[in-house]
Amino acid sequence: MIDSYQPTGDQASITATPSSVAVIGASHAAIALADRLRAMGYEGGITLFSDEDRIPYQRPPLSKAWLRGEATGESVLLRDGGYYEDRKIELVTGARVEHLERTADGVRVAFVLPGGRHVREYDRIVLATGASARRLDLPGADHEGVLVLRGLDDARRLAARVASGPTVVIGGGFIGLEVAATARLLGADVTVVEAGAQLLGRAVGATTAETLLKAHRAMATDVVLGAVPTEIIYDHNGIRHVILADGREVPASTVLIGVGAQPRTELAEQLGVECDNGVVVDADCRASDGWTLAIGDCTVQNSQSGTRYRLESVDNATEQAHAAAAAILGEDRPVRQEPWFWSDQGDQKLQIVGLLGGHTSVIVRRDASKPRRQVALYFSGERLIAAECLNAPADFVALRAAMSRGCRLGPAALSDQSVPLKKLLDPVRVGG
Ligand code: FAD
Repeated sequence: MIDSYQPTGDQASITATPSSVAVIGASHAAIALADRLRAMGYEGGITLFSDEDRIPYQRPPLSKAWLRGEATGESVLLRDGGYYEDRKIELVTGARVEHLERTADGVRVAFVLPGGRHVREYDRIVLATGASARRLDLPGADHEGVLVLRGLDDARRLAARVASGPTVVIGGGFIGLEVAATARLLGADVTVVEAGAQLLGRAVGATTAETLLKAHRAMATDVVLGAVPTEIIYDHNGIRHVILADGREVPASTVLIGVGAQPRTELAEQLGVECDNGVVVDADCRASDGWTLAIGDCTVQNSQSGTRYRLESVDNATEQAHAAAAAILGEDRPVRQEPWFWSDQGDQKLQIVGLLGGHTSVIVRRDASKPRRQVALYFSGERLIAAECLNAPADFVALRAAMSRGCRLGPAALSDQSVPLKKLLDPVRVGG
C-alpha cells in the first residue's frame, strides 16, 4: 500500500489512502470490491448503498435454481447478514442515491431513505450501479403478465406464473434461454421468439448456437428465429397471445422480455464522466475524469486495440472490483485473467472462456462416445482467443488454465481429435 495517489486525469493531486469509500450499488461487483479492500488490509470506512430493500443476493440462480423452486431467499444471499458487521462494512439498504457531486477533497452523496433525504461526504466513490432489464415498447406490454428478470422481485413474479400456462420468451439470449429451459422442466408450453438468425447472436459462434437450438427443440420448446413480435393481446382473463410480424399468433399467458440490459449511468452522467452504453473505464476502472471508479455491469471497457466492449458477468464484476481496489490503494493492478462465463439451460451446461470476435478459424471438437459434449475453439491466426464448452467442464477448466498461463495454443496443436483436449493442454506439452 502506498500513501499517495496520482490521478491520470486533470484532477488536482488526491492525497493518501482514502479514509472512506462510498460504493453505489451493493451486488456482485460492490461486494467483491469490499472483500478485496479488506483482504488488502484497508481499514477505512466502506459504505455500500443499495436501492434494493434487502441483503444483497446472487442474480445467476434467479433464472435457474430459484425458478425451479430449489433456492430460498437465504440460499441466494451473496454473504450472510453477519458478514457486513464482522468486516465493518456499512450496508445501507433501501437507499436510492439520487445525486453525486465532487467536492474539493472527495464526493458528496445525496441519498433517499423512506424517512427522508440524507447527505454525506466520502473521500472516494465507486459506481457499481449495474444494469436494468430492457423493456419493449410494444402494444400490450403494460400487462402485469409481461415480465422482465433482473432482481429477486422479478424472479418471484415469474416463478408465480411460469408454470400456469403457455410462456412466450421474447429474446433468445442467455436469460431468455435459461428461463425457457426451466419453464419446460416445470411443464409449461414455451415459445422463444428471436429476431436474429441464430440464438445468442451476440455471445456465441454459429456451431454452439446451432447445437443449443437443437437442444431446446429437443426439450419441445418452439424456437422461432427471425421473428419480431408486434403486439401482445390480452383481455379481462389475461394475456391471450403474442402477434408476430408475419401474422402468426403465439399462445401465451406469461411473456418474458429477455432483450438485454441497459447500464445504469445516471449518476456517472451527473459527475460529467464519459458514458457510451456504460460508464467508459480503463483497465484500472477509472472513468474519463481519472478519479471516479466504476465496476461491473454499469461499465464499458476500452480495449488495447481501441475498441469498446461490455461484459455482463460475475467474473467481470469480480475482476474489475479487484482492479478498482488496487487503484484505490495505489497498488499495482492485478493481472487480468481470461474472461469467463457460464450458462445453465436445462441440462445443457455452457462455459465460455476468452472473448469472441475477430477470429480467423474455428475448430469444433466432438466425441462420438459422448454426444452431448462439444468444444468450439476460436483462433486469431495462431492464437486461441476463445472457447465454448458444452457439457465439457473438464475441458473448460483445462482451457481456462492454459489460456490464463498464456500458453501458445494454435489450431495445429489442438486439432487432433483422437487425443483428449485435456491431454493436448497438458502444461508440459504446451509449455505452460
Ligand atoms: P448488479 O448486480 O446489477 O447490481 C447493481 C446494484 O446497484 C443493484 O442492486 C441496483 O439496484 C443498485 N443501484 C443502481 N443504482 C443505484 C442507486 N442510484 N442507488 C442505490 N443503488 C443503486 N452472470 C454469469 O456470469 N453467469 C450467469 O449464469 C448469470 N446469470 C444471470 C441470470 C440473471 C437472471 C441475471 C439478471 C444476471 C445473470 N448474470 C450471470 C449476470 C450477473 O448477475 C451480473 O453480471 C452481475 O449481477 C453484475 O453485478 P453488478 O454488481 O455489476 O450489478
